[in-house]
Amino acid sequence: MAQVYDVVIVGGGPAGLMAAKVAGENGLSVALLERKESIAAIQRSCQTMVAIEDEYYFGERMYLDEKQHRIVFPVNNFSVRYDGPHKNFYAWHVYTPDGKHCVKMGDYEAKKSGGSKTRLSAFYSKQHLLQGLLDDALASGVQVFPGTNVIGHKRVGETNTVLTAEGKTYRGTFTIAADGINSRLVKLLGLNRERSFFGTIVGVGYYMKGVRPPYPESINYPILYHNGLPYPIMMWVGLSPYGEDESWVYAGGCSHPEINYKEVLDRAIQDSPFSYWFKNAVIVRRHAHVANIWSPVPTPFLDNVLITGDAGWTVEAECTGSMMTGRRAANAITEALRDGRPNRDGVKNYIDWWQKNFPGFMDYREFLTLMTSGLAGEDIANYLYKLVTETLPCSLNPYNLIKNINGSIMGKIATIQKERPDIITMMQTVATIPVEKQMKPFALTGFPNY
Ligand SMILES: Cc1cc2nc3c(=O)[nH]c(=O)nc-3n(C[C@H](O)[C@H](O)[C@H](O)COP(=O)(O)OP(=O)(O)OC[C@H]3O[C@@H](n4cnc5c(N)ncnc54)[C@H](O)[C@@H]3O)c2cc1C
Repeated sequence: MAQVYDVVIVGGGPAGLMAAKVAGENGLSVALLERKESIAAIQRSCQTMVAIEDEYYFGERMYLDEKQHRIVFPVNNFSVRYDGPHKNFYAWHVYTPDGKHCVKMGDYEAKKSGGSKTRLSAFYSKQHLLQGLLDDALASGVQVFPGTNVIGHKRVGETNTVLTAEGKTYRGTFTIAADGINSRLVKLLGLNRERSFFGTIVGVGYYMKGVRPPYPESINYPILYHNGLPYPIMMWVGLSPYGEDESWVYAGGCSHPEINYKEVLDRAIQDSPFSYWFKNAVIVRRHAHVANIWSPVPTPFLDNVLITGDAGWTVEAECTGSMMTGRRAANAITEALRDGRPNRDGVKNYIDWWQKNFPGFMDYREFLTLMTSGLAGEDIANYLYKLVTETLPCSLNPYNLIKNINGSIMGKIATIQKERPDIITMMQTVATIPVEKQMKPFALTGFPNY
């Protein structure tokens, strides 16, 4: 009969590794199962900016303490080791599709002159973060099983059994689902049937050397459209912490049969108003990602499985949010076992904390406006963004980003009424349609894991 661990953790991203480290340090017996052979290697697109230093997010204000080499979570009262490189950035610049106008969020020059003290945040190496967490987990006795693909989960009596594609089984009193945005465990538990599906985001990212955007130490964010389709595509150029003169260049948006995001990115680099940024640039590495957009799981617990990180959230809990959930879940399990309550009651404080700090902190529907805000098409996007001529406050909170831009556009309503009454009519119509309904075309072209 296989060993029964206190907890079997599925997934070795920020959530799973953090949960493993904390559970191991608390003295629990832990198995960590990860599909990738090399756990810290980065195989999926991610900009890895420390999100979010400048304001509360998920009830926290995390920041990178570069002197102590730690990422600090002052509200939740913990920090994690971070031994890797970082690069500061100072503003966020959104470019109109025709490349003729830039909406400035954050005073780049003023912030840059203050260096680390006034930065907006920093890009850091996820690889170093994961390696540090993995080292700590191993040092605390966690048994780590890389190259292990979980395909099944069942609860028999008071024990959970995790089944793998390699024909192995791992048994635990608790399971932690930390298997990311397209979580198989959440699907196997049947929880996706209780969630609303809004679409699938796909994207392609290149690490490139020699990229020269106008404001290099910022997020450069052109809005693109493809082949006359009305769907906005996010392009992103930010610094990469992984090498000298290296940038992360990305294009992504909702999956659509007529949009090939590699083609979009290549065209933006070779033949677009932004091509001059890439005149002498070369690609050094490529990644992609596929991420389903769901409403949050109703409750991050079922059958003694605690759901953490992206697995139960709408798109991204971010690396930082994922670590917070992993740590809380591990601590809740520790308490439950010590109290002799290895059940839902025992981990109730995790469920309550998650409800308050994730769905309770931000309405996930506001995230959807990020996807729908440019649905009016290229011509209208060019017109509206050009009205924003003042420097806006910068927020790394994706929910506030759109609010800040829309707030400025709304301040120019008299001008729009005069110059483009057709846009006012369109805005009035859109305002009556719930954002979930606006997402309908995206849901139809997505591929949900029900
Ligand atoms: C384009 C893009 C840009 C981003 N930019 C940022 C950013 O700037 N800052 C930031 O903080 N976050 C960013 N994120 C989000 C961040 O990457 C995620 O929120 C974070 O990695 C989630 O951590 P997690 O541990 O929940 O899941 P993941 O990091 O996805 O980890 C899940 C792990 O589970 C493993 N796994 C999956 N299925 C199985 C299985 N069946 N069996 C075994 N193992 C399995 C996977 O291999 C993976 O290692 C970005 C994401 C994307 C897509």
